[in-house]
Amino acid sequence: MRGRRIRIGQIKDRFNLLVYLSTFEGFKETGAVDEVSINCTMCADTKSHFYWGISKSIGFCHRCGHSVDSIQFVQDVEGLSFGDALEFMENRRTFDKRTPEIMKTDVEMQLPYRFIPLWTWYFSSMLPVAYLKERLVSEVQVTMYKIGYTFWKPYAHRIIFPIYINDKLTGFVARSLGDIKPHYLYAEGMKKSDCLFGYDIAQDFMGCVLVEGVFDALRVGYPAIAILGKYISNSQIELLRRAKFNRITVMLDSDAICESTIVCKKLEPHFDVHQVCLPRGDPGSTRRELLNDYIKNSFCFGTHENLKEYVEGVLK
Ligand SMILES: [Zn+2]
Repeated sequence: MRGRRIRIGQIKDRFNLLVYLSTFEGFKETGAVDEVSINCTMCADTKSHFYWGISKSIGFCHRCGHSVDSIQFVQDVEGLSFGDALEFMENRRTFDKRTPEIMKTDVEMQLPYRFIPLWTWYFSSMLPVAYLKERLVSEVQVTMYKIGYTFWKPYAHRIIFPIYINDKLTGFVARSLGDIKPHYLYAEGMKKSDCLFGYDIAQDFMGCVLVEGVFDALRVGYPAIAILGKYISNSQIELLRRAKFNRITVMLDSDAICESTIVCKKLEPHFDVHQVCLPRGDPGSTRRELLNDYIKNSFCFGTHENLKEYVEGVLK
């Protein structure tokens, strides 16, 4: 009996109630610590009278007096039995099995407070998920890159792109939704020059494609690595050398031909370097098929004649 009670308590604690509630009408943060409200699901409330204490997992409607715990709530709104509701909740835990270990062993860098793993919410209509879908980021990518979200300051309402180097969290990029500026924030204390987004996943490939930003990398696909800007540091080059890539294709934004050439020059002593000069825009806003064509037909760096002809061709 006791064992069962503990297990139910754990399921309640681990269930990401906050994200779940955020998918309901009228969701808002009330301003009180640990409290949000939604439109009541039991009465005709349209003004977010249904208050929830997140850590207590209890909701109370100030309009009709309806009071529930998270399990009963899930049963009611999903139409599930008690047991099925527990399973539903267990499948929507705050962290997947791997993440807490990474967080515990890593003292220098941590994921933001109340990091929400979006791979368990890809089915939902949450705003960050809609944004990722709009930018053609797949569920598999969200899972592989462990992309998340947080409602809490200082990265509130931003999509979190963690950066892992050999399974160690070295930083993250926090992207606002839509056009809210600044578009990008970086983890406090993170050294950008030691970070390469997509590094761990690209290591399984013989060659990689270097791009500027996270959405560029996601559009290109798995062997893509974002250098988080237009420049490459010596420690980033050292990481690429340790990954034992043969070929590196450099594909920065179209406005960065000079910077792209500098990156190529720095890589040239260590790799078979190819360069793609996009005719316009950035990889993140280019069709994936087109990018694959560019990569396939990229110039071996050093054949400047080709590049010159190419650039002149584009400018024509
Ligand atoms: Zn109510």
